[in-house]
Amino acid sequence: MALVDGFGRQHDDLRVSVTDRCNLRCAYCMPEEPEWFPRERILSFEEIERLVRLLVADGVRKVRITGGEPLVRSGIESLVGMLAAIDGVEDLSLTTNGVLLDRLAEPLRRAGLRRLNVSLDTFRADRFAELTRRDQLDRVLAGLVAARDAGFERIKINTVLMPGVNDDEVEEIVERSRREGYEVRFIEFMPLSNGSWDPARVLSGDKVRERIEARWPLTPDPAGDPHAPATRYLFTDGAGAVGFINSVTAPFCSNCSRLRLTSDGHFRVCIYDNNEVDLKTPMRAGASDESLREQVVEALSRKTRGGALEIVEKQAALPLARTMHQIGG
Ligand code: SAM
Ligand code: SF4
Repeated sequence: MALVDGFGRQHDDLRVSVTDRCNLRCAYCMPEEPEWFPRERILSFEEIERLVRLLVADGVRKVRITGGEPLVRSGIESLVGMLAAIDGVEDLSLTTNGVLLDRLAEPLRRAGLRRLNVSLDTFRADRFAELTRRDQLDRVLAGLVAARDAGFERIKINTVLMPGVNDDEVEEIVERSRREGYEVRFIEFMPLSNGSWDPARVLSGDKVRERIEARWPLTPDPAGDPHAPATRYLFTDGAGAVGFINSVTAPFCSNCSRLRLTSDGHFRVCIYDNNEVDLKTPMRAGASDESLREQVVEALSRKTRGGALEIVEKQAALPLARTMHQIGG
């Protein structure tokens, strides 16, 4: 059974949120005092493994572990080992805020993780504290070094740029990443809250690229994957690459290959689509693999043209039933 929706899009990319909890409180992602899901609501590692196996049997090849903050889930390296051992998983990666990487980079690598994305919107300590409501930049920087020491290659830094908040730092971030050997990907701020759409909060990736090019000439990566959300450019001087995820100014819905599993076991076909399917309840009631797969395929058949496209057309944020940390970014 292939994971193809009504628009012919093949889905091979799964994001698995392993917790809604986090050790930071980024304002664009969660409230200052979130209410966490009770423990029993969260899938066990065995339950996650079973659902990932099912989806891999149907064509998923890339699995990204996310959250909440995945590294606050105790024993995360065991889960990495379990998912890395699934036949058919060709690309296992993890997105983290980096705070706990200094002690977990090595065990994660040993467990079979090959790719890491670290989210970091600023290299300035005071700004970091303001954006994340926690004074932890030093830990993240130590985590990045630990990840390199543990043997992770091409570590990516994901930076959400917001006008008037951190857009003055573009050149500084690029300079530092080039020097230290990280690949930055600039991400447009996405209207994920229930608040009104505010185009003033989106800094177009094209404008950012022009600014970077004025100082460091770029050339499109000839090996770039046209289906990947990030458009990758190489620095012509050979000092690595930079990527742009223009999720708002150039939505990539028509090429979407992503599926999501929330930490409480709901299957989501689009970050913006609230029509989730609860797989945990039937699974805990003894549902067969076949009946879980049927629910997955049925949900996929209802996938719409694309949430990001709708937002751009309506110029309005879609009302989300969950905040980002509960979905899994
Ligand atoms: N805690 C991990 C982290 O921060 O990398 C993983 C989960 S976090 C929800 C995943 C990504 O979502 C982060 O890179 C974060 O910057 C991004 N994110 C959260 N809210 C966003 C928004 N409104 N617009 C764009 N990106 C957002
Ligand atoms: Fe936590 Fe990541 Fe959300 Fe920041 S973006 S609050 S680090 S889950």
